[in-house]
Amino acid sequence: MAMDFELSEEHKMIQKTVDDMIKRFAPRREEFRKMVLKEKKFPQELWDALAEAGIMGSLIPAEYGGTGLGLTAMVVASETMGSHGFGTALTILTTMDSLCILRNGSEEMKRRFLPGVAQGKLKFAFALTEPDAGSNTFRLKTVARKNGSAYSLSGQKTFITGVDAADYMLVVARTTTVDELAKQGLPKAFGLSLFMVDCKSKGIELQVIPTHGIEGMRQFTIFFDDVKVPAENLIGQENMGSMALFNTLNPERILAAATAVGMSDYVIGKAVEYASQRKVFRDQPIGVYQGLQHPLAECKIELEGARLLMYKAAWAFDKGFDPAQVGTWANMAKYQAAEVAIKSVDRAIQTHGGYGFSEEYGLIYYWEGTRLLRTAPISKEMILNYISEHVLGMPRSY
Ligand SMILES: Cc1cc2nc3c(=O)[nH]c(=O)nc-3n(C[C@H](O)[C@H](O)[C@H](O)COP(=O)(O)OP(=O)(O)OC[C@H]3O[C@@H](n4cnc5c(N)ncnc54)[C@H](O)[C@@H]3O)c2cc1C
Repeated sequence: MAMDFELSEEHKMIQKTVDDMIKRFAPRREEFRKMVLKEKKFPQELWDALAEAGIMGSLIPAEYGGTGLGLTAMVVASETMGSHGFGTALTILTTMDSLCILRNGSEEMKRRFLPGVAQGKLKFAFALTEPDAGSNTFRLKTVARKNGSAYSLSGQKTFITGVDAADYMLVVARTTTVDELAKQGLPKAFGLSLFMVDCKSKGIELQVIPTHGIEGMRQFTIFFDDVKVPAENLIGQENMGSMALFNTLNPERILAAATAVGMSDYVIGKAVEYASQRKVFRDQPIGVYQGLQHPLAECKIELEGARLLMYKAAWAFDKGFDPAQVGTWANMAKYQAAEVAIKSVDRAIQTHGGYGFSEEYGLIYYWEGTRLLRTAPISKEMILNYISEHVLGMPRSY
């Protein structure tokens, strides 16, 4: 009797709230598209509307000013936004960092950060990747050394999204370096620590990397030069950040899947609409040809599979399942959702003929956004490695 595929009343309410909210923005889609895609400006108005509707408080328990509805609520909101062709990556980053604080931070830290997130006043970025440590997190070199009541942070991060728009970033640093691990015979998972770092701190220098793929957000290389981070901004215990980090990456993958699922809904809808109107031969729309119908029907079937995996992963996270189990479903959901989104955009572009490349129809922008999801936040290959090793029990190849 426990199996139930219906959204709860609260989740349906979130869906309707976001639906109504986005419909208000829909007439200004062109203005938004120009702002987020061409000018790379952060859509503050959209963020404010989300916060006003209580969406940013979905994950935050009532005692810290939120509604405590959980990750599934945020998944519903992201999926709904995506299904209208809207999205903002900073909701994903802020959500994952907030969950990390909620599950691993001190009481004082929760009280300091979480109410601001619930009110939409605080935005967070996430800084993990380094020039020599992308897929291989354990190789990261950014170091934090404790000196009295503060840590001194030095090193470099790259491809970090939205640091210019965020208030704080969650920085993953080494408090025990790789050389020190080798000397002491410690495992590579030891020595990582997580910090909330004020983006305006002295000693931080930002360099824009011209990149494509994320609406309204730029990517940066960040240089940390003896940045002072108060000791109370350490999340959890020094050197013990690995487990908290990997548990934080699960919600990121689930929310990336939600964005991909929503985008697929949007572009499949656009393709069907266009195919129903466009006439090329005789007096019938191109949508009557099975050559156009079948690829879209295939996308729809694969999309429903991705949606199920995405909800299963979010449900398991909210239920407090073992993080390794959540990780399996989160990785599968992200993989499947990214692949179906890429396929769906490709089919939507093909359905539109030459207009698939026009700015007027805007589909080509979704190509960049969906294609990115095969590479980030985790690459397709690293997911396949994970499933091969941890689910199929095959040898680790790297
Ligand atoms: C637009 C954009 C935004 C981003 N935002 C952020 C952000 O906000 N914060 C952040 O921390 N990072 C961010 N990233 C970084 C992103 O997470 C990394 O680019 C991604 O994890 C891959 O790391 P890498 O680029 O170092 O690739 P590499 O690790 O150098 O890998 C290169 C290729 O080799 C493959 N490969 C590597 N090892 C193996 C193996 N063992 N088996 C099979 N294949 C393998 C990879 O899958 C990949 O295809 C962003 C990236 C982009 C492009």
